Amino acid sequence: MIYGSIEAGGTKFVCSVADEELNIQERVNFPTTTPKETMALVVEFFKKYQKNLGAIGVGSFGPIDIHRESATYGYITSTPKLAWQNYDFVGELKKHFDLPIAWTTDVNVAAYGEYVMGRGQGLSSVVYYTIGTGVGGGALQDGRFIEGFSHPEMGHMLVQRHPADDFSGSCPFHGSCLEGMAAGPAIEKRLGKKGQDLTEDDPYWEIEANYIAQCAYNTTLMLSPDVIIFGGGVMKQHHMMKKVHQAFTELLQGYVTTPDLVDYIVTPALEDNAGTFGCLALAKELTMQY
Ligand code: ADP
Ligand code: ZN
Repeated sequence: MIYGSIEAGGTKFVCSVADEELNIQERVNFPTTTPKETMALVVEFFKKYQKNLGAIGVGSFGPIDIHRESATYGYITSTPKLAWQNYDFVGELKKHFDLPIAWTTDVNVAAYGEYVMGRGQGLSSVVYYTIGTGVGGGALQDGRFIEGFSHPEMGHMLVQRHPADDFSGSCPFHGSCLEGMAAGPAIEKRLGKKGQDLTEDDPYWEIEANYIAQCAYNTTLMLSPDVIIFGGGVMKQHHMMKKVHQAFTELLQGYVTTPDLVDYIVTPALEDNAGTFGCLALAKELTMQY
């Protein structure tokens, strides 16, 4: 049996298939244009494998409807990407594939990948954030996603403005929430340069690290997880983690005793593959339940 993975991102879709041991057999990228165009490519890709395909795991940009009893379960709902608003993603897949489909957010699948075979392996409580085009967060407890009326939107938590920062924030909903202050586009809007074009000794990294440390602080006090993983493009600045640890220690003031910070606030072991492995692992688990 083989398993399928769809990472549905705002700029591109990454589709993969893997064997029972989750060795990736083929992987392709498609640009995210309209549902009609992009989904036609997705369907065509998986059709080749239909005979042996056991299940497909999907991690989608959102917000999405994750409630099985809802009439719009499996839909992308109120996304700013107009063509994808109220789009029946799982329904479209089900039209072409009579298979179990795992459906959750793009950041939840990355959390799951790290839980199954990355920094969360063997731990019971894992939180994953991506600091990229947006900021997203997902949390797992004993292999289940933490959710209620919907999936978490932890990237929009409020943060305190750094005293040396006069940027007003770029979140269209909240201005200076975490995403509005610390996502890649916020860096670019504030400095007129992309994060990847700043040098390692740019003083801005102190400010960025402070926002990430505030996020880790809030997460620590709300969930006391076993590990907090920060991935996404902006975290490719590996030198920043030391600054995050320092700022976190200052913020926390010893109020709780966390695990050793080098094991507690970390970057993903699977790097850019966390989402793919998460989708595949979710797909594999679905076939085992059926
Ligand atoms: P996405 O969020 O779209 O899935 P990424 O996680 O790669 O994609 O995030 C893209 C954002 O990360 C962009 O705003 C980009 O400027 C920023 N970024 C990418 N690489 C780096 C880097 N090496 N250092 C800092 N910022 C980066
Ligand atoms: Zn926001």
